[in-house]
Parts: sequence; structure tokens; C-alpha cells
Amino acid sequence: MNKIVVRFAPSPTGPLHIGGARSALFNYLFAAHQGGKMVLRIEDTDLERSRREYEDEIIESLHWLGLEWEEGIDIPGENGPYRQTERLEIYQKYTRQLLESGQAYYCFCTEEELEEERKNLLASGEMQKYSGKCRDLSAAEKKAKLAQGIKPAVRFRIPPCEEYIVDDLVRGKVSFASEDIGDFIIVKSDGIPTYNFAVVIDDVLMGISHVIRAEEHLSNTPRQLALYDALKLNRPQFAHISLILGSDRQKMSKRHGATSLIQYRRMGYLPEALFNFLSLMGWSPEGEEEILLPAEIIAAFTLDRVAKNPAVFDLDKLNWLNQQYIKKLGIQELAVMVKPYLEDSNWKEQLKELEDYRYELMVLAVRDHLVALSDIRQEAEVFLGELTYENEAKQLLNEEGVLAVLEAFRDGLRESMQADEVKAYLKGLTKELKLKPKNVFMPVRCALSGRSHGPDLPLMVTFWGYKELLRRLEQSINMIKQSH
Ligand code: GLU
Repeated sequence: MNKIVVRFAPSPTGPLHIGGARSALFNYLFAAHQGGKMVLRIEDTDLERSRREYEDEIIESLHWLGLEWEEGIDIPGENGPYRQTERLEIYQKYTRQLLESGQAYYCFCTEEELEEERKNLLASGEMQKYSGKCRDLSAAEKKAKLAQGIKPAVRFRIPPCEEYIVDDLVRGKVSFASEDIGDFIIVKSDGIPTYNFAVVIDDVLMGISHVIRAEEHLSNTPRQLALYDALKLNRPQFAHISLILGSDRQKMSKRHGATSLIQYRRMGYLPEALFNFLSLMGWSPEGEEEILLPAEIIAAFTLDRVAKNPAVFDLDKLNWLNQQYIKKLGIQELAVMVKPYLEDSNWKEQLKELEDYRYELMVLAVRDHLVALSDIRQEAEVFLGELTYENEAKQLLNEEGVLAVLEAFRDGLRESMQADEVKAYLKGLTKELKLKPKNVFMPVRCALSGRSHGPDLPLMVTFWGYKELLRRLEQSINMIKQSH
């Protein structure tokens, strides 16, 4: 069997989108499963919209996600260069070949003329395809146009009566008639090749065995097949993976929230969680398990388990997965990871004063409440902010008997108490006062944190330490006394 070689070929016209990341991941998984290799090629033929910054950002996002490739834009290899604008001479050779054999021709139509054609076709309800105006220009006509200084584009001559069948590894056989395609431009008048042309040449020269890409390119594939035939090149195998829809089943767009990988990274989603989540978007392993290590995903990944129907982006599921991965982290590791978020928050000054062990206590106390790392900014408030009261806590504090509980708690508190001792002390107090645990724990929680729900009480108590604890208790006791 020939070697498995796949490629991810982004256009650097924006940050790496969730859909692009999923395509890259599927290529990576497919190659890794079979011991093949992956190539990273940059398709920058849209000169106006392509930017080096996006290219860098895409590469960084892919590395962050945990993908690797053997050859490509940042890894020299035998099939470079890997940026299409650096391959223009290569394409020229094939352009000449097609022009000489008559399979392509110069097209002198201006943008305005083509626009006019499109409008007329639209008005008459006919299929949008090139009229063929420049198809059969005589040598003299061509010469005259060139003499006028008109720079022609190069158009590929679609053969008549052909049927192009894409034998797609995900979608099955999909057929297209050449009549519906129309001659298309392969090189623009500025000498830059179009996507459909460059992609074919590159896939062949880079030895690509499998083209795995988004479904939106399925309609381009017959044009590419026509070029493979014209140039007598072997076709790779194709696999078009379905669209990603938002939860409203519309095509994923900015309306649905964050759409680029870098946005998720900034919010504090873990790469392991996204790797896991994206792999399940349109693919499923056998069995019910959803939390999977990269090695498990690679071992199970085959294209026959890739779904034909669209994948729906389920943010709740991503959140759930991210939480599971956060819970797996060691406290010290997590403490390092959340720090940048706190340093860029309202609590940056308080953070400077915080001893390491207290900082880690706080991280431990909030760990299970973090959906994304950036949530630390809200979660830290109860520890680092001033004591203020949420409505529910205020109401509870003003209930009968609460003041007595808080005063008893204050009076028995000793400076030397550690977390487990505080817990035992609270339990003892429950017995002594002949109250249900809830009627002791709740008032104490509300008095100390100003909230009726939140992190583990003994951990909070240890975090604040004796002096801060007393200060908070006094504040709450005074508040209650004043409102009575
Ligand atoms: N540059 C194309 C894109 O970003 C890649 C298409 C392909 O994989 O063939 O959509």
C-alpha cells in the first residue's frame, strides 16, 4: 500500500476557526492511526486577505491543540516550499502545458463583462457558468488583444459530456456532470493561480494520498478531478467532512459565540479538552466513553465512523469536558495555570500579598467550580474581595436565632484551629446548641462569605485565618444587630 500522506491547507485569512481545527485534527488522527504523515501547507493565493500574522496564529493554535506534522511551512521537507505564493514557477509549468495542449485558453473578459454575464444569467434563471466567449478566439484576435496590453486570465476548458464521480470516503459516490460546471479560471490576470488549480498541483507534488477537508469543498472537487484528468495525474482519495452547525442548527458563525480556537484558549479551555471535544464532532468511537486520551482517539479513529450529517457544536458538552480535564489537574499545576487570569483581574493587588499556601488553598477550594480557567476571576472574589452580601445570604442572616449561633461560633474559635479542627468544632457546636447541622453551617457560611453557596467552608476558614475570620464575623454580627 502506498504511504498515507495527508495535508492541512489553511488559507491565512483569519484566525483558526473551530471548523478548520476539526479538519486539521481529523487529518492528524487519520495519519497517526495508520503511521502516515501530515503536511502543513499555506494557501495564500488570496493576496488581499492573506496575512502573515494569521499564518503564525494558525500554526500556534495547531501546536497548542497538540497537533504535529512532519513537513510543512515551519518544518523544511523535500516537497517545499509550502506557501503557495512561493510556488508560482511550479504552477507556471503546468499552465503552459495546459495552454499548449489546448486544454486551457486565454480569457480576456473583464470583471465588468463577467458581472454583466452573471446578471443576465440570473435574470433568465439559467445556470451560472461562463459563456465561453473567449473559448475559440482566433490567433489574430488573441494577438490583437495582447497588443492592446490586456492581461489575460487562463481558463480551463471543461470537456463536454463528462461525468465526474467523487468516490468520497465519507459521503459515498457523488456525481457531477461537466455540463454544469463551465470553463473556470485557473490563473488570474495577475498571474496568481486560483485555489482549484494550485490545490491539485500541490496535492500531487506533495504526494498526498488522502484529501480530508470540509464539505464546502465537495462542489470544487469535480473541477479538481477535471484537472487531474487533463494533466494525467493520479487522483488522491477524498473525504469531505460535514459542516459544523450552531445549537440552532444554522451554520456556525460569530453569532454563536466564540468561533476561533484562540478565543477558547484565552478563555481558559484546555487543549486536551478541545482535542477530545473536536474529535467527537462528527466522529464517534465504539462504546459510550466520552473522555478519551489522544492515544485512545488515535487508536480508534477511522473514516468509516465519521458521520455524514452535520455536527452540532454543543457548548455545554465542551464545558463539561473542560471541567473534567480541570478536575484532573494537580493543584500546583492548576495554580500556575490560573495565575495569569488573576493577574489580569480586579484582584491583582491582593494576589501580590497572598502567601503561596493560601493561594493554593483558594485554588483547591474553587477547582470544582471552574468551567474554564478564566472563571477564577469570579471565583476568587469571595476570597479576595471585601465582604458583601448577596440577597439570599442577607435574608438568612436576619432570621431568628442566627445571631446567637454566630456569637457562639465566635466565642469558641481558637487561633490555632486548622481546617479539620474547624469542621469538628462546627459539628460540636451543632450538638451543643441542639441544632440541625444546616442551621449552624449555613449562618456561618453566610456570615463569612456573604453567600449561601460556595466553596468548602473549612477551606475558606483556613484560607482567611483567625484574624480575618473574626473581622468578618464581627462585620456580619454588627450588620445583623443594626437591622434588628
Ligand atoms: N485553503 C482551503 C481552505 O482553507 C483548503 C481547501 C482544501 O483543503 O482543499 O478552505
